Amino acid sequence: MVPILIVEDEEAILTGLKYCLEQENFLCYSATCGRDAIDIISRKEIDLVLLDLNLPDMNGFSVMEEMKNQKDVSIIFLTANLEEVSIVKGLDMGADDYITKPFKTRELISRMKAVLRRNQKNATNLIHLGNVLIDLNSAKVLKNGHDVMLTALEYKILLTLAMNPNMVFTREKILADIWDVNEEYVNDNTLTVYIKRIREKIEDDVNHPKIILTVRGVGYKIGEIS
Ligand code: CA
Repeated sequence: MVPILIVEDEEAILTGLKYCLEQENFLCYSATCGRDAIDIISRKEIDLVLLDLNLPDMNGFSVMEEMKNQKDVSIIFLTANLEEVSIVKGLDMGADDYITKPFKTRELISRMKAVLRRNQKNATNLIHLGNVLIDLNSAKVLKNGHDVMLTALEYKILLTLAMNPNMVFTREKILADIWDVNEEYVNDNTLTVYIKRIREKIEDDVNHPKIILTVRGVGYKIGEIS
């Protein structure tokens, strides 16, 4: 079970979140104010924090700062309104992601899993796929040492697959993983188009792809290359 901390002063939201996330096998600690949250962080092994920015006792940004000073914990912050300044500030301070209230639990869980996956693999920072290299720190993709220009969405799709090289991704799963980052609406048909575009950029031979393989009738997976 992944230990997480939910920091939220609205009891109803806290209770609801805790219930949903426990169903998803997260080990949930909770706090209703900044002080308690920082205290828990200092005492417990926590992998991810869901942090409401509007807390009764402290500014959420200060809470984030104190947590980051104590340990390298992943943080997804919750904002009440889509305030760009807050979002930029939060991300600049080292938060991994944010979500705007009201949100769907499914979306939150998908983001939490993405953050946890990303940070788990961060120890290496580089993913090699044959002559293609993904640099997670700079979010750059190189082919034979040359920059490959991927759109944010193409990068996210490639990363989703590359982070789990042994896993077959159904088209549905890929769509679920990317739906929160794309500004354009991606459906099943456009996913095919995106995969084609990514292949054109990274494969040696688009007609015989070796990096992104099609699993007939199911979806896609990363080929066994190293
Ligand atoms: Ca609040």
